[in-house]
Amino acid sequence: MSAIFPLTKMNNKSVDVSNFYNKKIGILGGGQLGKMLCVSATNLHLDISVLDPSSDCSAAFVCKKFYSGNLSDYDAVYRFGQSVDIITIEIENVNTEALMKLAEEGKVVHPAPHALHIIQDKGLQKEFYSRNNLKTSSYIICENKKEVQEQINNGLISFPFVQKSRKAGYDGKGVAVINSSVDLHKLMETPCVIEQKVNIQKELSVIAVRDVLGNVSCYAPVEMIFDELANLVKYLLCPAQISETIAKKAIVLATETINAFDIVGILAVEMFLDENNELLINEVAPRPHNSGHHTIENTFTSQYEQQLRAILGLPLGSVKTIMPAIMLNILGEPGYNGAAKYLGIEKCLEMEGVKIHLYGKSETKSYRKMGHVTILDTSLESAKQKAEYIFAHLKVIA
Ligand code: ADP
Repeated sequence: MSAIFPLTKMNNKSVDVSNFYNKKIGILGGGQLGKMLCVSATNLHLDISVLDPSSDCSAAFVCKKFYSGNLSDYDAVYRFGQSVDIITIEIENVNTEALMKLAEEGKVVHPAPHALHIIQDKGLQKEFYSRNNLKTSSYIICENKKEVQEQINNGLISFPFVQKSRKAGYDGKGVAVINSSVDLHKLMETPCVIEQKVNIQKELSVIAVRDVLGNVSCYAPVEMIFDELANLVKYLLCPAQISETIAKKAIVLATETINAFDIVGILAVEMFLDENNELLINEVAPRPHNSGHHTIENTFTSQYEQQLRAILGLPLGSVKTIMPAIMLNILGEPGYNGAAKYLGIEKCLEMEGVKIHLYGKSETKSYRKMGHVTILDTSLESAKQKAEYIFAHLKVIA
């Protein structure tokens, strides 16, 4: 592999980590990302607790201690945080006031609550990019549908544009693409960001990681191919099919972004490569991310291990790519609701380089993320053939 993105050693100081082994780690959220964090923690035999509203969540199966509670609830998050030494997240929508209080009281909280507070709100995120000269599509912020309409009439918003709910959107929910006045009925009644619609050439993601000393390392940029109907990543290619120059620019942008947020741990930076070969930040996630699942198998250090190393104050591991990979999400077949069955899985398990991860969600729903597959191969072309076979044969039905 030609693309290697080594650690940028900005700081040669070291921290005393002799006591890391005795630290109790708490993860807010017990979905699949939390599960994979717990699994990766077993090599170092780390003590992990998880807080999630559902005792049936993916991570409850593998964590040392599970606590049931609402992640938006101040008391639930505060009490959970008091039972551990280091707190991190696998989902953004958590109570940041409780995290601020815990940080004030001396708990180690990564990502920092003030950064999380900005990232939770797409309006604050956009303003942050503008303030820090980080390139993003042009935008304006509106309070409601009426204001969007007024700004169209004033000529401050022009077609085509994208409306994004400021808070609580995920996997394309809370995003409306308005190509012309015919689409105006799709406008959502919510405080929102209105972005100019970008002519996207490719959607890229760079997973950056930063240690407690400020050293930053970036994984090879990946390219995400979306399922238009599900509005979810259908599969991703590692490495992205882009020139070395664009890959380097993407890494510089991700590095500048993680430094600006002053984050310790993972920051997934999603970007658009537009028709003029310009890179624009779309959004970020301050936690392990769907676009980094493949690092479990195709990189020396997975994003999950890296997150744990960073928050414990340990040195980061190598982010060198071992082999090209394709990652595809296993989505519930549309139209099926109920106890999940995995049709055709045995045929996929027989294939060389195919690694299947199931998240243990007992109920399937249309397009629900039920698992993922990482395909390792010497070339992306042959990995793509395997991906097509898996799309055709592996079906989650009820
Ligand atoms: P979510 O937080 O739900 O993932 P995103 O902000 O990433 O939402 O938007 C979902 C998808 O909508 C993106 O992956 C992209 O395909 C499309 N999209 C978002 N913003 C724009 C934009 N400004 N121009 C064109 N397409 C966009």
